[in-house]
Amino acid sequence: MTTPISNQEFQAYTEGRLPAPEKVADGVWTLPQRNHPGHMPFTLSYLVEDAEGGVHVVDPGWDLEDNAEILEAALARIGAGKPAPVSALLTHLHPDHTGLARTLRERHGTRVVLHRREHKAQQMYAQWVADESRIREDLDAWAVPAERYGEVLGYAAGSARVVVSADQLVDDGDLLQVPGRRLRVLHSPGHTPGHLCLVDEDQRLLFSGDHLLPRLTPGIGAAGGFPENPLELYLESLRRLSAYDDCQNLSGHQYRYRGIADRAHAIAWRHLHRTAEVEQVLTDDAGATVWQTAERLSWGRGWEALTRHYLVSALRQTAMHTALVRSGRHHNAFGSWQPMAPRTRTA
Ligand SMILES: [Zn+2]
Repeated sequence: MTTPISNQEFQAYTEGRLPAPEKVADGVWTLPQRNHPGHMPFTLSYLVEDAEGGVHVVDPGWDLEDNAEILEAALARIGAGKPAPVSALLTHLHPDHTGLARTLRERHGTRVVLHRREHKAQQMYAQWVADESRIREDLDAWAVPAERYGEVLGYAAGSARVVVSADQLVDDGDLLQVPGRRLRVLHSPGHTPGHLCLVDEDQRLLFSGDHLLPRLTPGIGAAGGFPENPLELYLESLRRLSAYDDCQNLSGHQYRYRGIADRAHAIAWRHLHRTAEVEQVLTDDAGATVWQTAERLSWGRGWEALTRHYLVSALRQTAMHTALVRSGRHHNAFGSWQPMAPRTRTA
């Protein structure tokens, strides 16, 4: 069961409008930032003040409309005379989280901080986008039929975006340079290869980016860049993050909530079901291709309704589950961690 932390934020989420900024804890505030149409309506950015009056921005948001000016105004309000943000702490490389980091660096010399794996993934994306034959390899492996090939190819290439370079690379377990705070890096791969969560060890806050959204199962392996199976990495990350159940979850979208362990179990449970579904298809028809398998799975709006990037995402998911089943590792994908069925949720 998850419980929203802020009523006004939850209300705004349910009505699809931008919530008001709010104080989260001592020296920590939310700053909801608008997104492009067709994406989630807003990203939750967070402003964190350090012991010297400097401000650090977790995921400054998309570089569009007046987001930059809204951010500047918020910084001027709380920056104790130091409105230039010291660092932009990025949970992952997607533009709804990172877009404004480049603007902050240009205007204020803000240090952009990213996980080392995410930096590597950016380089891989760049190669991948430059070389269409790599994308075609995936499509051929999935056995995409000729009449849908162009559509899948276009959207598979379009999902790789490089937005910002980093000034500082961090690793799992690092303490960030935020005076007066113990803000530690937790590598949480799955959504992207170098996704990170940040835990404020004293105030028990978990800045979780897109890893543990309250009402949406995050896309896994969203734009390539993984040498391993992203699904296995994600399940391991869920198991790991479930240990932070005493923290407030400062989610990157939707709303902040308590109930991290239950949410991690519920998401893992969904994946477990999907794996079982794929296993059943492959038991009935061992030679089924990824495309043929995907056609036989249950999709929210039905297989026929899946087009464009939804279709690419469905094929990627199916390929990951298929690889897990074919490897035989699905029987112990969770190790000793047994995800429980979700309990009835009030929120
Ligand atoms: Zn996002």
